[in-house]
Amino acid sequence: MKAAMVMHADADILLQAAELNSLLAGPADHLDSLEMWLLYHEKPPENIPRFAYPLAAIRLLQVDAPDVPEAVLHVLQQIQSNRKMDMLLFCSDGLGQELCTRLAYRLGGSSALTVERCLVVDATIAVERPVYGNNLMARIRLELRPYCLSVAKKGKGSPLEATRDTAFFETVNLPPLQIDWLKAWAIEVDEGESALAAAEIVLAVGNGVQSRENMQKMQVVADTLGAEIGASRPVVMSAWSDMNRLIGMSGHILSPRICIAAGVSGAGVFRGGIRNSRFLVAINTDKQAAIFEIADVGIVDDLFAVLFELESIVRKATAQNDAVAAQERQNGD
Ligand SMILES: Cc1cc2nc3c(=O)[nH]c(=O)nc-3n(C[C@H](O)[C@H](O)[C@H](O)COP(=O)(O)OP(=O)(O)OC[C@H]3O[C@@H](n4cnc5c(N)ncnc54)[C@H](O)[C@@H]3O)c2cc1C
Repeated sequence: MKAAMVMHADADILLQAAELNSLLAGPADHLDSLEMWLLYHEKPPENIPRFAYPLAAIRLLQVDAPDVPEAVLHVLQQIQSNRKMDMLLFCSDGLGQELCTRLAYRLGGSSALTVERCLVVDATIAVERPVYGNNLMARIRLELRPYCLSVAKKGKGSPLEATRDTAFFETVNLPPLQIDWLKAWAIEVDEGESALAAAEIVLAVGNGVQSRENMQKMQVVADTLGAEIGASRPVVMSAWSDMNRLIGMSGHILSPRICIAAGVSGAGVFRGGIRNSRFLVAINTDKQAAIFEIADVGIVDDLFAVLFELESIVRKATAQNDAVAAQERQNGD
């Protein structure tokens, strides 16, 4: 089996090496050759990590726009058509995951993300990766080559030492992709761990919210209520909310004091994420919605009408409380 590790010279190369090295333990005995494909922008790095497994070659691939997946995919597709690797390993970051999935699709292979372990079973690859929001570890058999795998995040771990040994370096000159259609791009950094997991009050918003703009209005409502906002899968898949706000079997399993589920139909996989709420209020225009089966209070109405009214009541009550507190302080003076 021939494998290549796709790495970026512009990011922490020792950390990438430590992550990828951890995936090699399973297939190590079955590897006929292992290469490093190192993407760089302006100048290749001077130091290269030393791997626990012998590298057959380090191929330097210059890319005009290393942050643009199309540009990198173009280069990878060309080198793969020459080298014909059985397995391509990618880093754990967002770009590694995107390249892994899209390259597998372009090459007609298989892909798996956040892979913790990789095994060779009957001349094919099986991977172990967490599923359902880390609630289960699955073993998945991949059938189509090349197997494109992106490794699970490992944290700092023990980085590999660097070497200046350039004996196996080869600069691969490939025609770059002419990207005249891409006018601008932006990288949006994930907000990281959310406070949702430990929240006492949760506003769980579903597809009924209809747009990103409306989701932003829901955030204002949540702030007024002192709640953390969570979302169903269609909402995060439409990028109206951050992925780490996902509620359900693929995301957070919550047990808040109060949960308001607004505009969610109540699919079983979602319900699993909020069924342990101590008090559950559901708002849905459809009186048949399954979410009402587990709600303590069900409101058949438009979620915006109900939540904006609730927001206005809480604002008035807060203002009144503030005024009373201010008056009491004045009386005390
Ligand atoms: C393997 C797998 C894992 C999954 N894991 C998850 C998971 O972890 N979490 C998850 O959420 N989903 C998950 N899903 C998807 C899940 O099956 C449902 O598709 C999803 O939960 C539906 O989300 P929703 O209720 O927001 O959207 P919809 O089903 O589209 O429901 C929207 C609801 O909003 C109501 N509505 C519309 N407008 C309004 C309004 N103005 N006011 C009030 N109500 C309104 C509608 O009546 C409807 O009931 C998974 C699916 C699979 C296959």
